[in-house]
Amino acid sequence: MKDVELKPCPFCGAQIKIVVCDDEGNIQKEEYEKKPWSGLGYKLYHDIKDDPTDSCPIAGHEGAGDLGVWIYDTKEEAIEAWNRRVDNG
Ligand SMILES: [Zn+2]
Repeated sequence: MKDVELKPCPFCGAQIKIVVCDDEGNIQKEEYEKKPWSGLGYKLYHDIKDDPTDSCPIAGHEGAGDLGVWIYDTKEEAIEAWNRRVDNG
């Protein structure tokens, strides 16, 4: 798999991560990807701890379960969508 770089958060400059989630958007552990029993998706996310400004509107708390709105089918799709959005913003 090729390594595609995610652009940093346009609000605070933090490094964006991709997290695994189920069909309902609940964040799952990485192991879930190998055995998804309730659908598989990907969300873009960065932790509030990574926000140097402490006021990023998209930062979330790990484990909160309500991170991001969009669920992508593949990692590549998530990365592409994110990078496109950052470019346009
Ligand atoms: Zn941010």
